[in-house]
Amino acid sequence: MTPQQARARVDALRREIERHNRLYYIDAAPEISDRDYDRLFDELRALEAEYPALVTPDSPTQRVGGAPIEGFARVRHRAPMLSLEKKEDLRELELFEREILKKIPTFQPDYVVEPKVDGVSISLHYVNGVLQQGVTRGDGEYGDDITANLRTLRDIPLRLDTDDPPPHLEARGEAYMREADRIALNEALRARGEKTFANTRNATAGSLKQLDPRVVAQRPIRAVFYALGYTEGAAFATHADELNALRAYGLATPTLWRRAHSIAEAEAAARELKEREGELPYEIDGAVIKVNDNAACRALGLKTNVPAYAVAYKRPEWFNEAQTTVERIVVQVGRTGVLTPVAEVAPVFLDGTTISRITLHNADEIKRKDIRIGDTVVIKRAGRVIPAIVRVVDDARNGTEHAFAMPNRCPACGGPVVRRALSDGGRTEVALRCENPDCPAQQARRIEYFASRAALNIEGIGEIVADKLVERGLARSVFDLFRLDAARLASLNLGTDDEPRLLGEKIARRICDALAAARTAPLAKWLHALGLPGVGETIAIKLAETHRSFDELAHSDKLPLILELVELDETIKRLNPKSRANRDRSPTEKQQLAVQRATALARRKEVAAAIKQFALDGIGPVIARDVMDFMKSAAGRELLCELRALGIDPQGGAPNTATPVSGPFAGKTVVVTGALQGFSRAEAQAALRSAGAKVVDSVSGKTDYLVVGADAGSKLDKARKLGVATLDEAAFRAMLGAK
Ligand code: AMP
Ligand code: ZN
Repeated sequence: MTPQQARARVDALRREIERHNRLYYIDAAPEISDRDYDRLFDELRALEAEYPALVTPDSPTQRVGGAPIEGFARVRHRAPMLSLEKKEDLRELELFEREILKKIPTFQPDYVVEPKVDGVSISLHYVNGVLQQGVTRGDGEYGDDITANLRTLRDIPLRLDTDDPPPHLEARGEAYMREADRIALNEALRARGEKTFANTRNATAGSLKQLDPRVVAQRPIRAVFYALGYTEGAAFATHADELNALRAYGLATPTLWRRAHSIAEAEAAARELKEREGELPYEIDGAVIKVNDNAACRALGLKTNVPAYAVAYKRPEWFNEAQTTVERIVVQVGRTGVLTPVAEVAPVFLDGTTISRITLHNADEIKRKDIRIGDTVVIKRAGRVIPAIVRVVDDARNGTEHAFAMPNRCPACGGPVVRRALSDGGRTEVALRCENPDCPAQQARRIEYFASRAALNIEGIGEIVADKLVERGLARSVFDLFRLDAARLASLNLGTDDEPRLLGEKIARRICDALAAARTAPLAKWLHALGLPGVGETIAIKLAETHRSFDELAHSDKLPLILELVELDETIKRLNPKSRANRDRSPTEKQQLAVQRATALARRKEVAAAIKQFALDGIGPVIARDVMDFMKSAAGRELLCELRALGIDPQGGAPNTATPVSGPFAGKTVVVTGALQGFSRAEAQAALRSAGAKVVDSVSGKTDYLVVGADAGSKLDKARKLGVATLDEAAFRAMLGAK
């Protein structure tokens, strides 16, 4: 091959690969098999290796660039990224239209209605069709240059899909993360002992702020584009044309947008959009209504600081916001001793329920939002469920409000409170804790957690019953529950001494029956219900798959492997004869190091293989260490004693030994990804387990099936690459039914 031929081939390959990326990521209509895709990629990589001069930054092989950077450069937007004026009802929209008509009397109503994506605003600059720069919105005038990070997003093309690119094109849009991806990311972060993200927007913003693009490449961030910014050599008559052009260039655009020919129709379209929000992979905070005709937009121009040709439409009831006042701030003590401030607010009706208590998480949050007792506050349901204080209404202050300080004694037991040191050196946790293991509040919360539906599901024991069981001295630990008799339980007084209210026989019976059933619940459920440090539902299942009983877990020979692997990695590094520390050693010493290192490497191979075999891959050293420490601690030994005394011995072990040995899923390794309609993630996994499948978290060559729900991400990707069979929900159901 001549260099000219190589250049032509490299060019063709890049285009072809980007085209297939797009078919896969943007159009969801792949045309070739993964194997063929990989072949193209391999060929490109080989050619680039042979002709390094042909490597250009827009090559698909160059998405994840070099080393971490020191910080982001500040860049000025060529055209500011503006806010939008907010409109809350049809009447306000009609005023918007009237103002347009005042300026352009001949205006023929023609609008585009599209989702207002609630992500992190970004702007991409393509110069002659090649991605040159990616910037955050920042303050609208200046943003951060996060080009290296945005290049790792596979739904952002490095080169526009056109033979005739404009000299300069700026695409504006939003980076976001899907909720299912955030949950999976959090689980992975937690397993490695890293900080997790409270919502998809934080997850996206936090990920894009990473200084190491290799980290960003691992984060499931996506992007969608809805407008052009500064552009040279491309002009479009309408906004709809711009959206179509963006899409044609290979950028993702909102799937739900439409034109409307009156403001009333636009309003109706916005409502419909809100109703169909669930079909979108991102959260929205309303709809954007834009004048479609670009000449009209130019004529309308700006209104001080916002466009006069577009508005954000946000009906207040869409966002479940309400106002109330903070009457008190009380402090709750949780299962693990963490003190949580809770605002008691004047009861307010919001989205179907009356809200009177709102968690404030920690003292830092109170400080950050400057929440004082007596304040009027705006509240909403975060993630559409949990009520949260959005902000204080400053104007409503009259000077009688007063600040709140966290107590330095536990409100439940009076014990001292501490901030735990973080493992990474001098810093301490944000949370304050009561460390008294006999703290009655902790005992009650542990019982409540144990009995909750996600754990052992002891119907009849909730917050109040748990409190009273502890208060009246009937139970201090979950094990005491198993020593209660129904008559004693029935007489539990849930009221006061003056006004007693007894639990009653019916509920007592129900609780006893549920407890009897819990005795034989599987090990995974028990591990989860006992709330061991670091052990959530997924980790509990993993631990129970590899250990057959609590005893086996206490004497685990598998968890130490995880720690050994970390130690081996350090040893191997330390023994490197070429390292700076070892550079000046004598040749004999270096020889010795090399021999020791070879031994360590061989052992590492064994250990890694064992970890894989036991499917412990998802458990990091932090959790392994926590679990081992706990099982050896006084509390852990007491746990074993109690179980033995009560004759409870939950069983674990690979689930498919006790479950079906025939049927389509028997003995198969299966991964579930994306959002299924008819199952929660946990339900789908449980169904698979009871059909005899081994359910794992990540796709590998050993995976038999990937069950794919809506908005599947990197797992689907990987499955395609590895040629793993995928099942959509219908196929999954059919196979479950056919077992
Ligand atoms: P705001 O900052 O709330 O006034 O809203 C303006 C911001 O909304 C813009 O700067 C964009 O970052 C964001 N946005 C989200 N979706 C859209 C959309 N479809 N069209 C325009 N802006 C949008
Ligand atoms: Zn306490």
